[in-house]
Amino acid sequence: VKLMEYLVVGSGLFGAVFANEAAKRGNHVTVIEKRDHIGGNIYTKPIEGIQVHMYGAHIFHTRSKKIWDYVNQFAQFNNYINSPIANYHGEIYNLPFNMNTFNKLWGVITPAQAQAKIEEQRAELNLMKPPKNLEEQAKSLVGTDVYKKLIKGYTEKQWGAKATELPAFIIRRIPVRFTYDNNYFNDPYQGIPIGGYTQIIEQLLDNKLIDVRTETDFFADRANYLKDYPRVVFTGMIDQFFDYELGELSYRSLRFETEIKDVDNYQGNAVVNYTDAETPYTRIIEHKHFEFGAGNKHKTVITREYPKTWQRGDEPYYPINDSVNKQLYARYLNLARKTCPDVLFGGRLGLYRYYDMDQTIMAALELVAHEFGR
Ligand code: FAD
Repeated sequence: VKLMEYLVVGSGLFGAVFANEAAKRGNHVTVIEKRDHIGGNIYTKPIEGIQVHMYGAHIFHTRSKKIWDYVNQFAQFNNYINSPIANYHGEIYNLPFNMNTFNKLWGVITPAQAQAKIEEQRAELNLMKPPKNLEEQAKSLVGTDVYKKLIKGYTEKQWGAKATELPAFIIRRIPVRFTYDNNYFNDPYQGIPIGGYTQIIEQLLDNKLIDVRTETDFFADRANYLKDYPRVVFTGMIDQFFDYELGELSYRSLRFETEIKDVDNYQGNAVVNYTDAETPYTRIIEHKHFEFGAGNKHKTVITREYPKTWQRGDEPYYPINDSVNKQLYARYLNLARKTCPDVLFGGRLGLYRYYDMDQTIMAALELVAHEFGR
């Protein structure tokens, strides 16, 4: 086996998993990170003894036993189950849409009554043709009431556009459950690492063969990095890597406003979605509830999440996977293969995919298998 000198750009989950596996096989790895901390978007930091998710709520969930076992090597997970609540002008509903939601909306008791109610509302719409836009699509799936109170405002804030102007394909299906079950995810494995996510990244990078440099931007010295390292794993934005020469990929950004409150319990749940159009934020996270009330009993930490149009310089939280952007990404990938075969693109930004944490780990392990063999 030939040992290599690797440069990993980005200390998020993808970069950290790759670095860990490369070092385990005897390779030297330099990890550079432009932020002043490691961990990328899963970074958590203790405030008032509460693990604060600094880049939005992160709930680990997976269908894969293999990935669950993998991640459990680095942290002990609690049995947190995500059951968000929707606040529509002060009316409270359970999510995802289930019998609790329908009972609150209409007073229905049985699954048959709820199904009949949705059918009745869909029939009233007289939808003959395929839906023209997101509004028609959503109404045709769940009827008018659920759409109006729980989907419309939230989606319009999320995308920064009117539901009648958004394409129907954004919502292919809407998970509707005719049981009294508020568990948001269907996966068999779910939880939050006790003590936060950052420890996972710390352990992944804890190897004598790994050097980590924070506050170090690849683009500040790109020519030298490419000269000095025979292999580069790049987990930043692929369009930026090529100086946007084929054009900009689109992203949605977010702004987080974190606040310490002098109460033990501010909202009674980790995640509350604001589904009306008037409230400018989409949700409030109360971090201590991810760990069942851990931390200071007289304080709590909340974060409001505001959707934001992405501009250069903003954090690109969500890739926008429409057909125009997918095609542009494919052209960048092509360019990469032709002009720099020794740069491997990975992670959410390098692959331009909305990956959950388990998918990110899976993709990193796939790259490892490709690079080093199984
Ligand atoms: P990132 O975490 O983005 O890491 C990339 C790193 O590269 C960053 O640290 C960045 O600073 C660094 N970087 C970029 N460019 C450069 C450069 N030029 N030089 C040096 N460093 C650079 N997943 C779940 O499973 N469950 C959830 O509940 C969940 N909630 C989420 C909520 C939000 C708001 C967001 C945005 C994501 C959520 N995810 C969730 C997805 C999860 O965050 C990702 O799967 C994971 O963080 C991806 O890791 P990554 O390494 O690919 O990317």
